[in-house]
Amino acid sequence: MPATKFICPNGERVPIKECLNSCKQKERCMFLPTLRAIAKSLDRGIKGPTVTELISGVRETYLKKTTSYAVNPQSVLYSLHGQAVHTIHEDNMDGEILGEIRLNDKITSGKFDLFGKIIDNEEGVLGDLKVTSSYKIMKALGIYKEDVETGEIYKSGLKKGQPKTRKIFRYDGVRHVWDWSVQLNYYRRLLEEAEFHVQRMFIQALCRDNSLKTAAERGITKPVYIIPIHRISNHWLDKYFGTKAKLLQQAIRTKRLPSPCSLKETWEGKKCLEYCDARENCPHAQELALLKEQKAI
Ligand code: SF4
Ligand code: SF4
Repeated sequence: MPATKFICPNGERVPIKECLNSCKQKERCMFLPTLRAIAKSLDRGIKGPTVTELISGVRETYLKKTTSYAVNPQSVLYSLHGQAVHTIHEDNMDGEILGEIRLNDKITSGKFDLFGKIIDNEEGVLGDLKVTSSYKIMKALGIYKEDVETGEIYKSGLKKGQPKTRKIFRYDGVRHVWDWSVQLNYYRRLLEEAEFHVQRMFIQALCRDNSLKTAAERGITKPVYIIPIHRISNHWLDKYFGTKAKLLQQAIRTKRLPSPCSLKETWEGKKCLEYCDARENCPHAQELALLKEQKAI
C-alpha cells in the first residue's frame, strides 16, 4: 500500500487527496504541482518487491506494503530531485548508452540508471546517480579526521606540558558503500542475465548540502563525486536477496509481522526513531521511543 497521508510542517497528518484538493493549514507548504508530483511518485504501481525494497529491512517493506502510512512531502522531494537528475540525461545518451530500464528475474526487479560508454570509450560501464548528504559522501569516500601534533606544547592551563594537536583529514578509512554496492551489483546481475557484460561500476553522488560549512568540515569540497563500486559474488547476492524475498512473501501470505529490522538496516536504531516511514505502525519503534522518553526523564 503506498503512503496515504502527508505530514504537514506542524506535524498534522492529512490524507493526500484532501491536501491536493485544498490545504488544511494556513498556507501551502509547497506549490500544488510539486505536491502532485510527490503524490504520483509514491505509487509506482510495481507489484513484486524491488531491489531497493529488499535492501531495506523485511519488516519495513512489509509494513509499507500492507499498512497505511504518512510521509513528509519535503523528504520525498529529495528523491524527486534524484529523478530530475535522471531526466537531464535523457537527451544526451548518444545511442551507445542505455538508461532507466527495469529488468526482472525470479526474485526481484530493478531499474538501472546508466549503462554503456558513460565514462569514456570503455564499453559496459554501469552507473547509478545519487543525490545525497555530505555525511553519506564522507562515509562513502572513507574520509575521517585525525589529531596530529603541531610540535608546540601548552605552556599553561590544565594541559600544561602536553603537546598541542590539530585535526587533519585522512582519506584512507573504510568506505561505507554497502547499500550502494549491493544495489548496483544486483543491477549488474540483472544486466548480465540479459547478456550484457558489465566491466566496471560507479556511483555519481551529487551533494545536496555542498555549499554549507558542515560539508567542508566533513572534507566534502566538490558538488559531485564519482565513486567506484567493487564486485560482489553472485552467490552472495542470490542468497541475500533470495532469503529476504522469501521472508517477505511468507509474511504477506500469513499476515504475520516479520522480526524487527536489523541494527545495520536501522542505522543502529536511528531510523526507527526518526526516519522510517513505517514507524507509526511498528511496535519496535514505539518501544524504542518509550525507552528514549524514560531515559530523558
Ligand atoms: S499543502 Fe502542505 S501544509 Fe497544506 S495540507 Fe498539504 S501537506 Fe499540509
Ligand atoms: S521502525 Fe525500525 S524496525 Fe520498524 S519497520 Fe522501521 S526500520 Fe524496521
